[in-house]
Order: sequence, then structure tokens, then C-alpha cells
Amino acid sequence: MKKVRISAMMFMLTASMFTLTSCGGDKPAEETTTPTETAAPAESSSEETAGVTIEIEANDQMKFNVSEIKAKAGQEVTLVLKHVGTMPKTAMGHNVVILNQGVDLAAFAKAAIAAKDTEYIPADSKDVIAHTKLIGGGESDQITFTAPAAGEYDFICSFPGHYAMMKGKFIVE
Ligand code: ZN
Repeated sequence: MKKVRISAMMFMLTASMFTLTSCGGDKPAEETTTPTETAAPAESSSEETAGVTIEIEANDQMKFNVSEIKAKAGQEVTLVLKHVGTMPKTAMGHNVVILNQGVDLAAFAKAAIAAKDTEYIPADSKDVIAHTKLIGGGESDQITFTAPAAGEYDFICSFPGHYAMMKGKFIVE
């Protein structure tokens, strides 16, 4: 009998301790304080390094829908190119080629024409920071790269004859 009572009391004590513990945990003050305190440093650091997604559309009228894209130095950039037209890539191929500073656009575009085998990306790609593949109507491509040092960079479509119409600025802050 006694043993039963003791274990029953023990159970009740244990149960009430559990209740107390869970009550403490349920207190709104503790609930909000604890996760925020632990999450805050992670959040602020991930804010600095958080990636950015940039979407660019290209069409059958030989145009990009943006003339300026932006990112922060060192930021992970996800660039999505969508060809919203219907023409095949042999006739209306598009890519996005982000060039280093100081690259002569006309000279690069000329070199690109000769690089048909590599989809108009010249083999000596020191000039290129990043590029998508060449796509036709209805296709899309996605690349990820790290934004370079702050400054202004050019981006173009390197398909023959397109860069005059299809170019813009990549602004890194
Ligand atoms: Zn193009």
C-alpha cells in the first residue's frame, strides 16, 4: 500500500514538474525571447550573404526586358534567362554574358561571332565573369555566380548581331 502511494506521489511530483516545465516553455516571453536570441546572429549574417535572384527575359524582337541589373559585391547571384519568344536558337538565340570591366564590346562581339562552336562564347573567357547557355524560344537557363567587386559591368547577348540591341549594365554595389 505504502509503496503504491509513494510511487503515486512520485508520479504526481514528476507530472507537476513536467507541467511546470512545459508551462515555463509556453510562457510567451520565454518562447519569443529564446528563439529570437539564438536566431538573431544567424539571421543578420545570412542577410549579408543572402543571394539574389535576377530574372531576365529575352524575346523574338531581339530585346532584353531589362537594361540594368543589380547585386552586391560578393553576393551569390542566381541569374535566370527566359526566352519568351518562339523562334529557334539558330535564328534568334539569346544568352546573357557578363563581361569584365574594360572589355571592348565591339571586339568581344566580333570574337564571339567566330566562336560558333562554343555557342558564341570565345574560348579565352578571361573577359567573361559569367554566362548562361544559348537558348531558343520557350527555353530558359539558370546560372549561379558570385558578384564581383563593386562597379559597373556590361552584359550582352553574344549571338551574332545582337549585342547592339541586347546589352545592359550589371551594377555591383
Ligand atoms: Zn540574342
